[in-house]
Amino acid sequence: MRGFELPFREVHLDFHTSPDIEGVGVKFDAEEFATTLEKARVNSITCFARCHHGYLYYDSKKFPERIHPHLVNKNLLRDQIEACHKHGIRVPIYITVQWDKYTADEHPEWLAVDESGRPFGNSTFEAGFYRKLCVNSPYRDFLKALTLEILETFPVDGLFFDIVQPTPCACRYCREDMIKQGLNPASLEDRKEFGQMLINEFKRDMTNFVRQYNKDCTIFYNKGHVGPAHRPVVDAYTHFELETLPSGGWGYLHFPVTMRYARNLGLDCLGQTGKFHTSWGDFHSFKNKAALEYECFRMLALNAKCMIGDQLEPNGKLSDAVYELIGSVYSQVEKKSRGVQELNL
Ligand SMILES: [Zn+2]
Repeated sequence: MRGFELPFREVHLDFHTSPDIEGVGVKFDAEEFATTLEKARVNSITCFARCHHGYLYYDSKKFPERIHPHLVNKNLLRDQIEACHKHGIRVPIYITVQWDKYTADEHPEWLAVDESGRPFGNSTFEAGFYRKLCVNSPYRDFLKALTLEILETFPVDGLFFDIVQPTPCACRYCREDMIKQGLNPASLEDRKEFGQMLINEFKRDMTNFVRQYNKDCTIFYNKGHVGPAHRPVVDAYTHFELETLPSGGWGYLHFPVTMRYARNLGLDCLGQTGKFHTSWGDFHSFKNKAALEYECFRMLALNAKCMIGDQLEPNGKLSDAVYELIGSVYSQVEKKSRGVQELNL
């Protein structure tokens, strides 16, 4: 296997926080944050630079208008990273790509559109941040400028780019490029073909861009599934994260089938479940311990590392009950993985 070897006990800490919520991060305490994770035997946690609402959780100099309007500690992300590093925990950074409500509102000309000119995702008056941005528009320049600021501001262990999906876009930029390539923008089949080529080109372009500034960080582009479409573009990735919450729409059979494919792509893989009873955003709820044990041990059995999804409450304090639950399972993962590490020696 080439590439990066992932830690065994990871958390993905969602932090999509509405601008209507006040007191964001008001109860955050950096040392308490890191010791809670250490006690739960977590050795990697993905934390947020920019969420689906489009807000930033650090003191951006280039884009101050995008800092969450109620972020109490403007150095939330920096403090998370520094405290975790002191405790030997790595911190990949989350950046949303195609779902960003702030950008969709400010730059409707960057949205991906269908053949009638309608954006993909929710309509203007529907709740949600699901209008999709087109990475073939000047939005890509903004995304690079933001990524560069993050690379120059923080010690970056990894970058997790979320919502990176092929889209049969008919925006002016995609139509122009399709005609140049001899494709017919009026044909849905041609738009699908172009959409797949475009997203692969985007991933290679972003990886090359990141590598100009950071040679070692992990890089992953998430579309909610890993499958045959990834094979031609494996070189843009350092590893694969299999988003597959059994109670969250993917079902219990998605992970074993997907993992048996993904582990043959030549890069290290992790399985991602959630601590939620159902899915992302259901963050007041808990998965029962037996289910979490089953899901994590099944990841190990299929040669994947473990990741548990959580959502940080807007006040910035990790839930003690959640990390007691995670720790009760990850302490067992730690014992089992020690055996694997010894075998590798
Ligand atoms: Zn487009």
